[in-house]
Amino acid sequence: MAGPIPLSQYIAAANAEYYAHRDPLGSAGDFTTAPEISQMFGELIGLWAADLWQRAGSPDITWVELGPGRGTLTADALRAMAQVGLTPPVHFVETSPTLRAAQKAAVPDATWHDDVATLPDDRALIVVANEFFDALPIRQLVRAGDAWRERMVACQDLLFLPIAGKDVPDSIVPEHLRDAAPGSVIETSPANVGIARAVAGRLVRQGGAALVIDYGYEGPAIGDTLQAVSGHRFANPFEEPGSRDLTAHVDFATLGAAAGMEGVRVEGPVGQGAFLTALGIEPRAEALARTSPERAEQLAADRARLTDADQMGELFKAMAWTAPDWPEPAGFA
Ligand code: SAH
Repeated sequence: MAGPIPLSQYIAAANAEYYAHRDPLGSAGDFTTAPEISQMFGELIGLWAADLWQRAGSPDITWVELGPGRGTLTADALRAMAQVGLTPPVHFVETSPTLRAAQKAAVPDATWHDDVATLPDDRALIVVANEFFDALPIRQLVRAGDAWRERMVACQDLLFLPIAGKDVPDSIVPEHLRDAAPGSVIETSPANVGIARAVAGRLVRQGGAALVIDYGYEGPAIGDTLQAVSGHRFANPFEEPGSRDLTAHVDFATLGAAAGMEGVRVEGPVGQGAFLTALGIEPRAEALARTSPERAEQLAADRARLTDADQMGELFKAMAWTAPDWPEPAGFA
């Protein structure tokens, strides 16, 4: 090994290996996500998109999902959208061959891309990203003595450990955080900013909207949110790279500012609970329970898991970006 590497490079390499060879989702995997918890999640997002599309005058659109996992969200959304006559072509941005195979089983007619650069540019886009941005690499700056230093990862035999690298200029640290206590960590994600700007730029040029849902905060702020999850438990991010999922909380303020620079309107973030409630998750759960009374208890439990403040309702947040000439998306009032 050629000496310490930046944390972002370590995360990118570990996650490429992790996602390439496994389907991490569901109860038998390492973690679960909202679309895997309940069909209501993808259906409500489909109805959100269909409502916006209708109010935009029913133009031709392409449906895009970033990091679709098993394809469940899009499959559920397509079913809901078809009920109002919206049957768009589907494009997936996904790097994992294992998950691409699962997505093909769920949405056979999709088209796949390695990144957003090759998405169609001939019509408006509706873009959805659930738990995508948290999986992209972050940089960490660590306050050491009276300087900020780039966090690096060193490798000795089979042991990986975080170390402080070169000083970085104070000017890249937000002013109100510069004098933080020794040991403080600030995170940035150039990958998040790059993809946010690329997607937002397309929305401005092509029309359309994007919906981003993830766990996160409104930064920049002091805090180390790098986490590893394995078998539904938190694990050490520096042990066994490539065999556990590495993620970080998403800085929605920075993500929204990056998108806004391109000229989109930014809505939110609002808590996932408030968002799904505004979209009607309660009547939806009740209607499903009426048609399948044997599932009533499970439906109520799933709804609570997605929306309660002490579960996914507040840590998880929703944000939308819309082209300037598109109507306001539902759920953010
Ligand atoms: N959205 C799904 C899956 C979330 S897991 C759900 O909610 O269930 C993160 C997803 O992002 C996986 O599909 C993973 O393979 C994909 N992913 C991670 N890094 C990526 C990258 N750099 N480019 C494209 N997809 C990526």
